[in-house]
Amino acid sequence: MNNKILDILKNTEGYISGEEIGEKLGVSRTAVWKAISKLKKEGYNIEAVNNRGYHIIDDVDIINEKEIQDAIHTEILGKKIIFKDTVTSTNDVIKYIAEKGEKEGTVAVSEIQTAGRGRMGRKWESERGDGLWFSILLRPDIDPRKAPMLTLLAGLCVCRAARRVTGLDVSIKWPNDVIINDKKICGILTEMSTEIQKINYVVVGIGINVNTENFPEELSDVATSLKKEAGKDFSRKELLNEVLKDFEMYYNKYVKYGDFSIFTEEYEKMCNTIGRDINVIGRETYPAKAVGINESGELIVERENGTREIVFSGEVSVRRR
Ligand code: ADP
Repeated sequence: MNNKILDILKNTEGYISGEEIGEKLGVSRTAVWKAISKLKKEGYNIEAVNNRGYHIIDDVDIINEKEIQDAIHTEILGKKIIFKDTVTSTNDVIKYIAEKGEKEGTVAVSEIQTAGRGRMGRKWESERGDGLWFSILLRPDIDPRKAPMLTLLAGLCVCRAARRVTGLDVSIKWPNDVIINDKKICGILTEMSTEIQKINYVVVGIGINVNTENFPEELSDVATSLKKEAGKDFSRKELLNEVLKDFEMYYNKYVKYGDFSIFTEEYEKMCNTIGRDINVIGRETYPAKAVGINESGELIVERENGTREIVFSGEVSVRRR
């Protein structure tokens, strides 16, 4: 019933009385009043004025299953949304249901992650609201060796969507970070379950700092949010829709062509690692210049003696000199 009341309030210009809502739904005014009190507790900004009735002010960035479902306009990715207020990580939610046979495209979203992860077991700070933490279940019919490139594809799509929604100068730090002014607004963690030649499933986990105002001290130099950069709030569900729309389009293309080369040009344009002097940090650490991306999404670097090397994302980190 709460969802029906929300629909009525959102589709009414001005005020509507409790009695009228009750009539539409075949319930009492008291029942309407109770439901509205509950919605207010959830954070909805609903005004009640004597003799006029109720009115919703759509100015709060609430995410829940209904809000997200209403905002998503895609064919497959996000057709089914699982929203949970608090989870260990949205990747865990997807892995669990993937093992039970859940279909491709289901997206898990949470307000808080108690154990959000980055690459190599690093921590992803997402223990408070205001962020967009979500994971997508994919079952691509491709060679398992081609799955890691989905991380780059997701980064490209987050970058495109964030630029569109915010107008900010968003770029990619190879391989998997989306940044503004060299500070991270998004991290992506891809995990998968494979057999020798077959992918069971891939989970693409994406964390975007949307309306975050304060980061823990240790992240203040490396992290920022869309709100901090733009000085205003953004709608998380709208951003989610934009990311999923792009990712659906790019993912379908990738599965069809089976090759990252169709995206390298756009990726290189959005990637601000390219053209920079960097330190490649791996088994061996050395200074180099990042010159491009190959058809597998690997970084091509040039050492100071002019020799070129390929850098794989799993092995190294790239830091500015
Ligand atoms: P990288 O490969 O750049 O080290 P990861 O994808 O492994 O990054 O993400 C983990 C790292 O991201 C952490 O070590 C931390 O420095 C940083 N980090 C953690 N939480 C956040 C956040 N909410 N926003 C931005 N950066 C974060």
